[in-house]
Amino acid sequence: MTGVLADIVEIAREQVLERGEGLNQEQVLAVLQLPDDKLDEVLQLAHDVRMKWCGPEVEVEGIISLKTGGCPEDCHFCSQSGLFESPVRSAWIDIPSLVEAAKQTAKTGATEFCIVAAVRGPDKRLMSQVAAGIEAIRNEVDIQIACSLGMLTQEQVDELKAMGVHRYNHNLETSRSHFPNVVTTHSWEERWDTLRMVREAGMEVCCGGILGMGETLEQRAEFAANLAELEPDEVPLNFLNPRPGTPFGDLDVLPATEALRAVAAFRLALPRTILRFAGGREITLGDLGAQKGIVGGINAVIVGNYLTTLGRPAETDLDLLQELKMPIKALNETL
Ligand code: SF4
Repeated sequence: MTGVLADIVEIAREQVLERGEGLNQEQVLAVLQLPDDKLDEVLQLAHDVRMKWCGPEVEVEGIISLKTGGCPEDCHFCSQSGLFESPVRSAWIDIPSLVEAAKQTAKTGATEFCIVAAVRGPDKRLMSQVAAGIEAIRNEVDIQIACSLGMLTQEQVDELKAMGVHRYNHNLETSRSHFPNVVTTHSWEERWDTLRMVREAGMEVCCGGILGMGETLEQRAEFAANLAELEPDEVPLNFLNPRPGTPFGDLDVLPATEALRAVAAFRLALPRTILRFAGGREITLGDLGAQKGIVGGINAVIVGNYLTTLGRPAETDLDLLQELKMPIKALNETL
């Protein structure tokens, strides 16, 4: 490590905590390379940064899969691809079930309800299903609606905006340099184009990815820098949960200390973003991990099940927030 970065925690304290300026790629790498005995210190700093620049509220979100499985893309981590021997079969849910899920989500205190479909991008049928679903939810439930429907055309961006979609999720998944090792059926740049159009249309951008997909620490730092350039409103951080039947099914689970160091590093690169623990954290971090993460820079959680694997029950997360005295962000604050 160079002399300049030898004291990266002190540099970050001054630059990120005091001035609100995120770490650059080289600095993020220095955090990712910190020894284990520095972990608690850097997690504490990440927590202080989040409290200072985001406040104590934690955003709670619900997620529903409108169309599951049978996707034509080959993202090597994904059990919803139709190209692998994955156990997830193609299925759709109907509008009444969608509305019911939105109601249950709102009851937990969640402010955001995200409608997800496993597709390369939406076709006409999916767009009209989404439009009908959003209208039905709006008539009965007071919650903001987000969508995650893959890559979009400009016309589709405009349609979603007109439907009142508040936030759009589209993950870059990994760094630009590692992406071709993860997906071969489309490019990182195609994903970037969708994100740019979403931002320009005035919707909030939610963009994150998965750590532990064979990327080097340098590439992990590059990914944080890619995200910092995009300036997303929200970053869901996933840890690979190697699913049987996918090309990444045999990869090792990221060690807990490495995952927590990454949580801190991404918070220090993105001081103002909503940083959300997404899928995979149970197997990487265990129960303790949720607690350490929430006091290590995370300020959003998903309630209920993840898309294809069982997450922790909603009550567990909500009890934890209460225990940690972290208030749930209220709906009127986000309107
Ligand atoms: S990550 Fe999305 S685009 Fe890729 S295979 Fe899975 S559902 Fe399809």
